[in-house]
Amino acid sequence: MTFHSDLNSAAIAALCAAGASHVAIEVVAETGSTNADLLARCAQLAGPTLRIAGQQTAGRGRAGRPWLSQADASLMFSLAWRFKGPLHALVGLPLAVGVALAETIGALGVAVQLKWPNDLLKDGSKLAGILVETRQAEDDGVWAVIGCGINLTMPDALEQQIGRSVSAVPWLAQMERNALVAALLSRLAGVLAEFDDTGFAPFAERWNALHAWQGQEVKILDNGQPLQQGKAAGVDRLGRLQLQTEAGLADIMSGDVSLRLVQE
Ligand code: ATP
Repeated sequence: MTFHSDLNSAAIAALCAAGASHVAIEVVAETGSTNADLLARCAQLAGPTLRIAGQQTAGRGRAGRPWLSQADASLMFSLAWRFKGPLHALVGLPLAVGVALAETIGALGVAVQLKWPNDLLKDGSKLAGILVETRQAEDDGVWAVIGCGINLTMPDALEQQIGRSVSAVPWLAQMERNALVAALLSRLAGVLAEFDDTGFAPFAERWNALHAWQGQEVKILDNGQPLQQGKAAGVDRLGRLQLQTEAGLADIMSGDVSLRLVQE
């Protein structure tokens, strides 16, 4: 299917690496949320499925927060992938996805960093968000629906609507859109297959190499309330943030907490 922004499922498939050749690719002009669409269909999916929307009218972030986008300015897709499980084995998954996206964008010539647990930053501002939602499969397996929203360009009106400083990658906006999606999907498929076998441990070093706030004073917020403060010291083998506090090293699980620089 083709529409105005040239996204085309056959063209994406033709450009993908062999490791992603089993992924079904769907392109839709508009939907509420690609994550919601795939979550509703997990039980019927024959295999891994990528769903890309030209526009999302109800994009979601964590804890019901909105993810705002604009057709052509944003790249929005979700990838449904079935993991062996159990569910707790997936705690580091959003971080491994961050590694896949950041490494792909880096290889295309734009340096980006990772903010724990699930954001990509460029020049200190949020460039992309990741939302992983899960559904138990019939056997012991677990479906993860991995949503990614990347700002290609950032129109003024959209930035005002978001209400905070955000970033974009105009360099990648110039790239042929199907080739960009194929590059992202190819690396993601490789990372997800590896993650299913090994868990997060082999990705910790790669994540830490891209860590935006290494050694900086940060605070953990729960619903806006400060919980803890310390120096960000990277992630461990499970994807927990290591926080150097006055009382020693604390392991922070992601849950729904947020991270901020202390001077912000
Ligand atoms: P934080 O860790 O900063 O609390 P988060 O990583 O939990 O945030 P998400 O829930 O993943 O954030 O994303 C939703 C938030 O992202 C929104 O509350 C909004 O501030 C911000 N946002 C929404 N749309 C965009 C966008 N296109 N680009 C950058 N940021 C956005």
